[in-house]
Amino acid sequence: MTVLETTELYRFFHSGDDEVVALRGVTVRLNAGEFTALRGPSGSGKSTLLACLSGIDEPDGGTVSILGERMTRRPEPDRARLRARHLGMLMQSGNLFEHLTVWANVRLQMQISGTDRPGEIDGLLDVLGLDGLANMLPAHLSGGEAARAGLAVALAAKPSILLCDEPTAEVDAATEQHVIDYLSKICRGGTAVLVGTHSGALAARADRVIDIRDGGVVHE
Ligand code: ADP
Ligand code: MG
Repeated sequence: MTVLETTELYRFFHSGDDEVVALRGVTVRLNAGEFTALRGPSGSGKSTLLACLSGIDEPDGGTVSILGERMTRRPEPDRARLRARHLGMLMQSGNLFEHLTVWANVRLQMQISGTDRPGEIDGLLDVLGLDGLANMLPAHLSGGEAARAGLAVALAAKPSILLCDEPTAEVDAATEQHVIDYLSKICRGGTAVLVGTHSGALAARADRVIDIRDGGVVHE
């Protein structure tokens, strides 16, 4: 089942007289239960595409639809509602509020998305190998623990779509394998997972790889 699809997405950035075409006609489709890697070198447009897919950014051309509902060019409250209900986003960093414990970070995300089920938080932390860390502040977590805690926040509202921007860029190889294991586990539960990466390890584990260069899909 298709849970997210785009028509040709365009995104332009301007600084002075210079124009950067960050996305030039990108069409993607994400399916439930499928682990897709978005692979490309630095500057190829991965983060721009993920931001457009998540509704954090608006494309200059083309549309993004989530479960058949158009998100693009809708009022911000509508986009926020779609995001909260269907999307989880794991960024490279900045996924956690520093003054809140791991548990409180997950709880806050549940409350924001209107799916407050505090009784399920411990179970979610267990699944991600974070048992015992619920009361820790983010500053006391290792890189891998912080990545998994960010994943717990992204999964707090049981999203049908999980978008990740280089989730393993700042962790060691063993931790990278763990994070990939968790992502595939989540996928097998039916979630559509799209991961921006330049890591071969991650792309090797994906069901499907979308290669992006200079803002265009070159191979799928
Ligand atoms: P990646 O995530 O693959 O490294 P990005 O999506 O960050 O690539 O960037 C794609 C291109 O768009 C790059 O040339 C980058 O410099 C440019 N770009 C991205 N965001 C902005 C912005 N806010 N302002 C100007 N240029 C940007
Ligand atoms: Mg990036």
